[in-house]
Amino acid sequence: MTRVGILGAGIMGSCLALELARRGADVTLIDRNEHVLSETSRFNEGKIHLGYLYGLDATLATARHILPGGLVFADLLSDLLACDVAAQATRHDDVYLVDRESLASPEALAAQFAAVSGLIREHPDAARYLVDVSRAAATPLTRAELDAVASDRIVGGFRVPERSVNTAWVADRLADAVAAEGRVTFLPGVTITAARPDERGGVRVEGLRAEQDAEGSEGVPPEGERFAERFDLVVNALWGGRLAIDLTAGLTPPAGWTHRLRYCLFVRTATPLDLPSAIVVVGPFGDVKNYNDRDFYLSWYPVGLVAQGNDVLLAAPPPPVGEARERFIAGVRQGLGAALPWVGQILDAAESVTVAGGHVFAEGRGTIGELASDLHRRDRFGVTRVGDYVSVDTGKYSTTPWVARRLADDLLGG
Ligand SMILES: Cc1cc2nc3c(=O)[nH]c(=O)nc-3n(C[C@H](O)[C@H](O)[C@H](O)COP(=O)(O)OP(=O)(O)OC[C@H]3O[C@@H](n4cnc5c(N)ncnc54)[C@H](O)[C@@H]3O)c2cc1C
Repeated sequence: MTRVGILGAGIMGSCLALELARRGADVTLIDRNEHVLSETSRFNEGKIHLGYLYGLDATLATARHILPGGLVFADLLSDLLACDVAAQATRHDDVYLVDRESLASPEALAAQFAAVSGLIREHPDAARYLVDVSRAAATPLTRAELDAVASDRIVGGFRVPERSVNTAWVADRLADAVAAEGRVTFLPGVTITAARPDERGGVRVEGLRAEQDAEGSEGVPPEGERFAERFDLVVNALWGGRLAIDLTAGLTPPAGWTHRLRYCLFVRTATPLDLPSAIVVVGPFGDVKNYNDRDFYLSWYPVGLVAQGNDVLLAAPPPPVGEARERFIAGVRQGLGAALPWVGQILDAAESVTVAGGHVFAEGRGTIGELASDLHRRDRFGVTRVGDYVSVDTGKYSTTPWVARRLADDLLGG
């Protein structure tokens, strides 16, 4: 039986663990946290991308790269979780709004969106999306529709057939599925420090156990605090922590990359609110997701971006607490409210507000406020392999079940 070590128990590591276990592998899933799916995969927006968001990639390379995985997200994940993921999707088409300071005009976006809709309609899996998108179109909003949803900052808008899923709901189901799978052993509380080819074949993984990751007095941790184990195959799905371990395994990092840490608001309201899911494009703006009229996601990018860097690792400050938390919430309310005046209703009706989020890794450099930045495309993520060591740049939540299935097929056969 192939012994596989998977580093990182986010959506990527967890989906892959289930896929490999189904093919008969003996899987050890390792994470520094006590529970699977404790980080980015639990706290993100859950947009199941069709390609509209990358409105500045006129080559359509990004749309082509992310569309196939987005179309089959619900089918593949429903199969892994033995429940209907599509039933948890947002119920209305997303409203895309163009700010007066957007990096693209409504006319340019209309042409781009028409091209993306064409790609979707031509795709053989278009009917398998969260809703049938085989007649996908981005419909311009009338002036009256625009006035009803946005302030006068907004100079254009479209209704696009994109949906999102509630990522906390998915995380809970996926955690249950991992716990129920006898061939997957979850190893919590281990911080991975290295993965090196082993002379007997396979890969030796090294790490430090929780509460013991401070170095000993000589700078070297005592024997009992170290973790070391050899596996036939190792898959690095550490997302924000991935490059540091790739370097120990002998993998050269890409030419340039950017790490970002983003925090957002996850709001549960005391009463249902019938409000749209809306996103302000393209540039450093934000959005609102209405998952089920009571669970909402609110993001205002300039406030939520708490760290950005191009080193191998990004120092990640924890979510703000106390007065800093109140200032953060007020900043999101003000920024988002300037474009979407009804956002305050959600916070006024809040039963609970969680400030959380996670890591975004992307090949390329720049900021999303710059027209020429590589961050406006996302067509360069996926799998790299050297010997028995595999590194996965997840890229998008929405493509993960698809990448995991294809990777499992490649590693162990369909
Ligand atoms: C605010 C925000 C909104 C987003 N919205 C969307 C969206 O709408 N649609 C979309 O498709 N994508 C979105 N994304 C991106 C998406 O969330 C990520 O691509 C995806 O969740 C990454 O999954 P993962 O399993 O690779 O990473 P993670 O969920 O971060 O899992 C990696 C795991 O590795 C562990 N780990 C890391 N380093 C170590 C180490 N050294 N030792 C041990 N364990 C370690 C972590 O604890 C973590 O559990 C968003 C991201 C953010 C931050």
